[in-house]
Amino acid sequence: MSVEGNPACRSRRSFLQVSATAAAAAAAFRIVTEPMLANADSLRDPRPYPKDAVLINANENPLGPCGIACDAVNNVASQGGRYSDWLTTDLIKTFAAVEGVKPEYVHAFPGSSGPLHYSVLAFTSAMRSYVTADPGYEAGMHATKATGARIVKVPLTSTYTHDVKAMLAAAPDAGMFYICSPNNPTGTLTSHSDIEFLLANKPKDAIVMVDEAYIHFSDASTALDLVKADKDVVVLRTFSKIYGMAGLRCGFAIARPELLEKMTAFSGWSAMPITAVAAATASLKDPQLVADRRHINTTIREATFEWLSKNGYSFVPSKSNCFMLDTKRPAKDVIAAMAAQNVFIGRPWPIWPTHVRITVGTQSEMERFQAAFQHVMSGNAAAELRPEPAYSGLNLDGIVLPAARS
Ligand code: PLP
Repeated sequence: MSVEGNPACRSRRSFLQVSATAAAAAAAFRIVTEPMLANADSLRDPRPYPKDAVLINANENPLGPCGIACDAVNNVASQGGRYSDWLTTDLIKTFAAVEGVKPEYVHAFPGSSGPLHYSVLAFTSAMRSYVTADPGYEAGMHATKATGARIVKVPLTSTYTHDVKAMLAAAPDAGMFYICSPNNPTGTLTSHSDIEFLLANKPKDAIVMVDEAYIHFSDASTALDLVKADKDVVVLRTFSKIYGMAGLRCGFAIARPELLEKMTAFSGWSAMPITAVAAATASLKDPQLVADRRHINTTIREATFEWLSKNGYSFVPSKSNCFMLDTKRPAKDVIAAMAAQNVFIGRPWPIWPTHVRITVGTQSEMERFQAAFQHVMSGNAAAELRPEPAYSGLNLDGIVLPAARS
């Protein structure tokens, strides 16, 4: 009997094939995060930044965790010998009460990068594509390497919103639509009605992920009402942005339990760091924190826009803590020249090769940004340009890292 015909051999062979596929997927899978992307095209190896550097390249919050969050970290640190799962339960209950969702619809993770990637694993495949905006946050695209999903990148509309009609038309095979609102990198919003339209017209079994990492900086309405209505939607939230906790690591996926289960099948048991949990719980209980920080960010962002306009520079008006600035020359040259001034600005996206992403820093950081940018754009910095590897956009076969410097 041929190997093909022998059921024992066949099942062993299919087991080996499945194992090989799983092993290939596992080898291909790694979680890609904003700091990796921020440094991918990079002017710098992973090493500490120079002293006094202005860091407006990774959408971090220069304010860091608020005072009560820092106190909570200090107070809980001595309990760090225990897993203390109940603290995570308390955090989830606190968030659920603030947002009016059922606690079982909320899952905590150390940041939202994990659930973004696990969703790609759960909802895309070689037959079910991953649909995203261009320019858009790239991390999810990297996860498709493990599932073999087709990546469908759809340009933003002329008003920089997600083009939901074009996204639907481009991907009848969609497994996951990724909507980031406010969008990283443009800081522009996609309306609730567009998200509803997407949900109403998507292929059956596809999910819509609404990444609300930056929502607190804007007055956009949340998509959590669609979660409450049991739609095929997963909302992501993170404490890395307005709450200033990128290094502490806390975030949520919010969806109906059946969708959460599909994602958490890939995350396994992941204990939360209790310092992050304590800081997040304390932050949620501060009724003024979000409003105060939104006000600070908006004031500095709008002052920066005023300065840019007055000086004749073009940018995409943003509602978030980052924006795209058109340098009208190859972005990598500007990034290098700015770095030489000790001002580290964000990356370009291949679709917009002359734009750079700027994170809104503190007032004094933005003043240093303005002085450096004026200097660079006036041409005075030409001599400071350093030879750097060419930026060719993100390489989906791996993060593009700079060649070793001699
Ligand atoms: N989603 C978006 C749009 C982001 O920009 C980021 C980080 O910058 C994340 C998710 C993930 O953030 P974290 O893993 O720090 O929660």
